[in-house]
Amino acid sequence: MKTAMNINRQFVFKSDKRPANFESTSEAEEEPPGKSCLRADSEEPPGKTAAGRNRFFGHIPDYLWNDWKWQFRNRITTVAHLAEFIPLTSEEQTQLKLVTMRYPLSVTPYYLSLIDPDDPDDPIKKQAVPSILEITMGKVGLEDPLAEKEDSVVPGLVHRYPDRALMVLTDICPMLCRHCTRKREWHHGGWVRSESEFEAMLEYLRRKSDIRDIILSGGDPLTLSTRRLESIISRIREIRHIEIIRIGTRFPVVLPQRIDEELCAMLSRHGPIWLNTHFNHPREVTPQAAEACDRLLRSGVPVNNQSVLLRGVNDTVKAQLKLCQSLLRIKVRPYYLFQCDEVQGTEHLRTPVETGIKIIEGMRGHTSGLAVPTFVVDLPQGGGKVPIQPNYMLTHAGKELMLRNYQGNLFRYRNPRARTQLELTAMAGLLDEPDSPFKSKGAEDADRVIVRS
Ligand code: SF4
Repeated sequence: MKTAMNINRQFVFKSDKRPANFESTSEAEEEPPGKSCLRADSEEPPGKTAAGRNRFFGHIPDYLWNDWKWQFRNRITTVAHLAEFIPLTSEEQTQLKLVTMRYPLSVTPYYLSLIDPDDPDDPIKKQAVPSILEITMGKVGLEDPLAEKEDSVVPGLVHRYPDRALMVLTDICPMLCRHCTRKREWHHGGWVRSESEFEAMLEYLRRKSDIRDIILSGGDPLTLSTRRLESIISRIREIRHIEIIRIGTRFPVVLPQRIDEELCAMLSRHGPIWLNTHFNHPREVTPQAAEACDRLLRSGVPVNNQSVLLRGVNDTVKAQLKLCQSLLRIKVRPYYLFQCDEVQGTEHLRTPVETGIKIIEGMRGHTSGLAVPTFVVDLPQGGGKVPIQPNYMLTHAGKELMLRNYQGNLFRYRNPRARTQLELTAMAGLLDEPDSPFKSKGAEDADRVIVRS
C-alpha cells in the first residue's frame, strides 16, 4: 500500500493566512473546473489527531479547506489518487479502474476525510468508493428506472405530476454517490444547460399555469455559481403561478463549505425556497454540515432530508435512529427514506423492502414522530412514490378496527361512521334515553383496550 507518508508534498502551507494575492472567486472562475489538481501528503502534523481532515489534509490551511471551489477543484477522481488515501491492493486498483471506465469516481477532500480508511466496512466509503460489483452485477436493474427520459417535455424539464416539475440544470455533482439513480448520466462528461435550453424550459413553465412547484435538480444544481443560480431563480420567480422552488442538493453533506453567506443571502431574497438534502449516515452530520444547515435555516430556507436505504450503510434501526435524531438536533427534518432504486450498478447496495418496513417499525413509537421519515418506493416506469408502512390495522370489521401499537399490544378501536349534522342532533337527543344505543358502555368500553399480543 502506498501511504501518504511517502507521497511528495506539492502544497506546503506554513501559515493559515491567505496570501495577499489569493482570490477564491474571480469572474472567470465562478464555477470550479472539473479537474483535480491536489496531490496528497498525509504526513501528519505533529501533535494532531490521525483521524479525519488532519490525517490527509492537515497541511491544507483553513482558508483553502473552507473554500468550496478549492474543494471542488481538488476532488479525487482517479483510482491512483484514491489509493494515496485508502488502502487498495494492486488487484483492487485494477478492478476499480475497470469500474471507473463505466462509472466515474469523484470525492471531495472534505467527504474523503470522513472515511475511516482502515475499516473495510466503512459506511462513508461505501457511498463514495467504487465497487467491482457495480459492473459484475451491472446487468441487474434498469438504466433509467424512473423513466425520466420519457417524461421530459423539453430537454432538462421533467413534468410528470400535475402541479410540479423538475428542472435538471446540470449533470455535475461534487461527489458521485455509488447508489445514484442518475448514474446513466455520469459518462456524459459534465454539462450545464445552455441559456437557450433554460429559456425553453421557462417558456414551457410560463404556458403551464397548473405548475406551482419547481424542483431544481441535477446533478447538483448548487454546482452552478451563485450568480448564475440567482439569474435562474429570479426568472422562475417572475412566473406568477410558481409558488415554491425546491432545491435538491447533497452539498450540505459532501461539501458544506458551498453553503456560504453569499449563497444564503441570495436564497433569502427569492423565497419561499425549500432545500432537500441527502444525509445517509450519522457520521455525515458533522459540525461543518450543522453550520451549513444552520446558515440555510437562518436565511429562511427549511431543510428536509431524503435518505436512501443502503445495504451496509444505514440498513439497521440503530443507524437510522441515530441518523434521524442527529438530524433533528441540527433542525433538519427527516422527510423520506427511499428504497434504493433498481438502477444498474447499484444492486449490491439494495436491501429487501422488508428491511425498510422493519426499520420504520423499530422507530415508530420508540422515538419522536418527527424523527421518523416516510419510507417510500419510487415505482419504475414513472409510477411515482408509494409510501410503505408497517401494518398497524389488523382487522376492519363493521364499527370496529383492531389496531396494533408499537409495543405489539392490540386495541379495539370504535370507528365512528360519517354522520350528517341532522343525525348528530338526533343522536344527542337520544343519549338521555335509558337504553340509548349511543351511550358509552362503561366497563365494556374500558374492555376495548384488551388484547395483548
Ligand atoms: S448528489 Fe445526487 S445526483 Fe449527484 S451523484 Fe449523488 S445521488 Fe446522484
